[in-house]
Amino acid sequence: MNVQECIFCKITKREIPSKIVYENSLNLAFLDISPISTGHTIVIPKNHYSTLEDIPDHELTELYKVVKKTAMMIHKKLQIDGYNILQNNFAAAGQVVKHFHVHIIPRNFDDDKFRIKIPRTPADEADLHNVLKKMEF
Ligand code: AMP
Ligand code: ZN
Repeated sequence: MNVQECIFCKITKREIPSKIVYENSLNLAFLDISPISTGHTIVIPKNHYSTLEDIPDHELTELYKVVKKTAMMIHKKLQIDGYNILQNNFAAAGQVVKHFHVHIIPRNFDDDKFRIKIPRTPADEADLHNVLKKMEF
């Protein structure tokens, strides 16, 4: 993708407006424009990387420090019960904006905003064995 056209790069460069929650030299946290819940925040590296596979490890470490700090601030200040940290990679996983980003999604016990429906079936021993054999570094 052309970095010039990236919506999150444009937010970083202040070419389009956003509601900035926190900023440091490497990262930016801003309110999601279509929030799943009140306070839904996006954390990005200022440098453009498409997915988890592209961001250098040291920048990922720095970004997750901001995710933690921001999540803890939201937890306290918005008096929520909890939050989901969501990070989509590639279109098949629902990634729309191709600039690496982490969602902080505030949750409350009584909300009905966002349910993770994971179909769970007990695994077959042979299937586990076979997939583990393929999963080598
Ligand atoms: P994803 O599906 O993980 O790529 O999520 C992209 C997120 O970016 C969505 O939740 C959008 O609502 C959000 N988003 C897109 N454009 C903007 C924008 N201009 N300002 C704030 N959030 C945005
Ligand atoms: Zn970008």
